[in-house]
Amino acid sequence: MKNDFTDRVAIVTGSSRGIGRAIAETLAARGTQVVVNCAKDLEGAEETVDNIVSKGNIATVFQADVSELSEAEGLINYALDKYGNLDILVNNAGTTRDQLLMRMSEEEWDLVLRVNLKSTFNCCKTAVKLMMRKRYGRIVNISSVSAIAGNPGQTNYAASKSGMIGFSKSLARETASRKITVNVVAPGFIPTTLTDDLPDELKEKTLSHIPLGRWGEPQEVAEAVVFLAGETAGYITGQVLNVDGGMVMA
Ligand code: NAD
Repeated sequence: MKNDFTDRVAIVTGSSRGIGRAIAETLAARGTQVVVNCAKDLEGAEETVDNIVSKGNIATVFQADVSELSEAEGLINYALDKYGNLDILVNNAGTTRDQLLMRMSEEEWDLVLRVNLKSTFNCCKTAVKLMMRKRYGRIVNISSVSAIAGNPGQTNYAASKSGMIGFSKSLARETASRKITVNVVAPGFIPTTLTDDLPDELKEKTLSHIPLGRWGEPQEVAEAVVFLAGETAGYITGQVLNVDGGMVMA
């Protein structure tokens, strides 16, 4: 069996930087035509596209806040109009508003649930219609080990990321007969803009719980996503793959 990404079309939400950028660049390097997405960080998204195009590969930007259904629909339709297809959807866009529950505002709860979980619903709902018709699709949703192990200060984030796991398993069962797979990648601690603001003390404490003794890199998450997005992973669905240096072992 050959893992041929040539002429495949992918959308990677939130690919203007960090893990999403690494996923977009890695898919493109294998021959996938990639739609790079961001809500606000257009400069970053254009940089991702430049990185891809400068290597002779194909990508374009579509700006959309995927937490809004109409904008997510716009993103999926853009891929269809521009490249005539959609084979791979990576729901990577995410955010945090860490706070102990006692101090967490309703706004902080709602925002995190909307950006992390509702976006996944929005993009999957629209993409699955196309994939069902084509009888092929690869969906990879980016959750977090916080969803599995819990993390103080992250009740909103962990709830949204656990929601993504239950959502993915249910969707995997709904779509399997049409050869669509739905899987989850759960990163551990990967230094990016998202983790910049965490106190150094917390970062050091986290490090002491990682058997492999180091933080991960966006590229290491991207390799797992690309594996699940490939044709050769066609017998894997409804699974959660932790990329966390062994921090959480189920
Ligand atoms: P990041 O903050 O560097 O990147 C987040 C991306 O999402 C950016 O491109 C941002 O523009 C985009 N985005 C945010 N809201 C959006 C919206 N409404 N619509 C479209 N795009 C939006 O973060 P990262 O560390 O690269 O995280 C990527 C994913 O990995 C997130 O889902 C995050 O929860 C998950 N994750 C990260 C870590 C980590 O340690 N970095 C660990 C576990 C899970």
